[in-house]
Amino acid sequence: MKMIQDFSFKGKKAIVRVDFNVPLDKKTFAVTDDTRIRGALPTINKIIGDGGCLILMSHLGRPVGVTEKYSLKPVLPVLEKHLGKKVLFADDCLGESALKMSASLQPGEILLLENVRFYPEEEGKPVLPENASEDMKKAAKAEMKVKQKEMAQRLADYAEVYVNDAFGTAHRAHATTAVMADFFDTDHKMFGFLINSELAAMDKVLHGAQHPFTAIMGGAKVSDKILLIENLINKVDDIIIGGGMTYTFIKAQGGKIGKSLCEEDKLDLALQLLEKARQKGVKIHLPVDSLNADRFDNDALTKVTAADAVDEGWLGLDIAEDTIKCFSEVIYNSKTILWNGPMGVFEMEKFSKGTSAVANAIAYATSNGAYSLIGGGDSVAAINKNNLADKVSYVSTGGGAMLEYMEGKKLPGITAIRGE
Ligand code: AMP
Repeated sequence: MKMIQDFSFKGKKAIVRVDFNVPLDKKTFAVTDDTRIRGALPTINKIIGDGGCLILMSHLGRPVGVTEKYSLKPVLPVLEKHLGKKVLFADDCLGESALKMSASLQPGEILLLENVRFYPEEEGKPVLPENASEDMKKAAKAEMKVKQKEMAQRLADYAEVYVNDAFGTAHRAHATTAVMADFFDTDHKMFGFLINSELAAMDKVLHGAQHPFTAIMGGAKVSDKILLIENLINKVDDIIIGGGMTYTFIKAQGGKIGKSLCEEDKLDLALQLLEKARQKGVKIHLPVDSLNADRFDNDALTKVTAADAVDEGWLGLDIAEDTIKCFSEVIYNSKTILWNGPMGVFEMEKFSKGTSAVANAIAYATSNGAYSLIGGGDSVAAINKNNLADKVSYVSTGGGAMLEYMEGKKLPGITAIRGE
């Protein structure tokens, strides 16, 4: 596999899939968080610095057809500011103008194409009437597959080299994230610097972890994290469980959880996971106490109880002091830490303490030599809210993509370039 750092783009035309799916202000359409744009800069600078011509493509949001509010135009000024140079813009990724502009691109020039998801071919999902029969669905799917290939080929024809640096969409088999790679030989397709560092961080944790290795799982549902927990049970020493998923585990063991979040159909599964962990010698740490509220509201009445003794009608919305102490102790003693999912309803100030405490404990362990990988939108938000982004080892840019990779799944955007 070609590595971007070893490749010279001098005089070459490169088409790069980036993830510029940035949040925009609802009224002004200004970019409100440019983290993803900054994430693409090393790859952009390398290609331009080498004297290559650069065509950038991305999606933004989930448009159905051409939708002005999902235009990539607001990205232009931010990108130009970071690069200190003009960036050209083609207002359609496949039209005549994009073709002409990419053909006449000179070394050092950058062209940004309009949102690739303005075409349904990008995602490859046919648009069907609600009452479509199974046969119609099958035929439309097959037709869309052909059209998706055509779109990928048209974009591939713009350039001699394909670079994928959009980790956030690496788990999607879309025209620009995976299908396009088929139109380039192995010497002319590669990952950008962002994907390389994401893969290095995840592989370090999955395959080169120092022990003790602790996985911290939180968030609303057990069902979203089952595959991750199952894959990690074979690798970790400790699993910390917090957040809404706690209460399914506690109820499964006969505890009282009041009105707390619970997946009734996952009670058996929770017991099976606990048993599996026991057999593998993995310690599972569940909360010992719970900060409960009389309603789902930041102004609710609160009280702390044992995690398995939540009063009737109350909901557990955060971990409490004794749990924070236990969890922090486990985290301090870890040499590798993976964190995915908040410990409570951290969006509400009153129930954000447990998540902040875990974020701080991870930063502290990292300062003592542990390797820490943080993934998932909420955990990343908690790290940023506590100003700890530079105090942990790696903050992943891809929630879903990271989760799937850590579950042991193959990501289409990765295998398209790296092979199996
Ligand atoms: P997930 O997307 O599965 O990682 O879940 C994240 C969401 O879980 C956040 O919006 C949290 O507010 C929510 N959450 C965390 N703890 C709890 C809890 N104890 N009860 C209800 N929701 C929770």
